[in-house]
Amino acid sequence: MTPQQLNGQLTLALSKGRIFEETLPLLEAAGITVTENPETSRKLILSTNDPLLRVIIVRASDVPTYVQHGAADFGVAGKDVLLEHGGEGLYQPIDLNIAKCRMSVAVSAGFDYASAVKQGARLRVATKYTETARQHFAAKGVHVDLIKLYGSMELAPLVGLSDAIVDLVSTGSTLKANKLVEVEHMMDISSRLVVNQAALKLKRERLQPIIDAFERASHR
Ligand code: ATP
Ligand code: MG
Repeated sequence: MTPQQLNGQLTLALSKGRIFEETLPLLEAAGITVTENPETSRKLILSTNDPLLRVIIVRASDVPTYVQHGAADFGVAGKDVLLEHGGEGLYQPIDLNIAKCRMSVAVSAGFDYASAVKQGARLRVATKYTETARQHFAAKGVHVDLIKLYGSMELAPLVGLSDAIVDLVSTGSTLKANKLVEVEHMMDISSRLVVNQAALKLKRERLQPIIDAFERASHR
């Protein structure tokens, strides 16, 4: 048990950008206002109108780790991030229906993906989501060499690093700008509330009303 869990303080882990922006209305629905702006402040711990609730700003892919270890009681993370993390130690009560996009396979406009798959070719796939991609292609019986990247996946097929990429797509304009074609829709992605399992037991009285307010606001 970390000190924060004992003293009655609640800590919410969010990432900057779309998750922070899209979680704000849900917090408002729970009567919570964040009193500092992470885009203009360099602070990583933000206060709220509730002296017993603070928000920490971490990398999107680190949210499950902070919550799993109890350094944050709860957090908001994309399904993409949760699938890669594996979700150990996390209770996932609700889909918040925010930061929606899809995870897809994309290739260079000239690459015949369907034929390559049909012929049983070994595909080189570049992605940040190696675990999810590994499972996806294994289930389809497609042999892949996975190349782990941390960003700008769209570049990989253009310079011959890979035949395909697995990436998140929303409007498709980034793919289009780089002459890539979406050839397979793997899954729909949205962000989930994740709660530390011990915190849920020990701080249920404080957490449950916030979870309930998020649930009501996210289905509107
Ligand atoms: P970092 O910038 O730290 O590498 P990131 O790029 O994953 O992290 P964001 O771009 O803020 O951070 O994405 C956070 C989450 O939002 C992702 O995990 C995903 O669930 C979702 N997301 C990512 N891209 C889009 C998009 N184009 N449209 C909607 N939701 C998206
Ligand atoms: Mg991003």
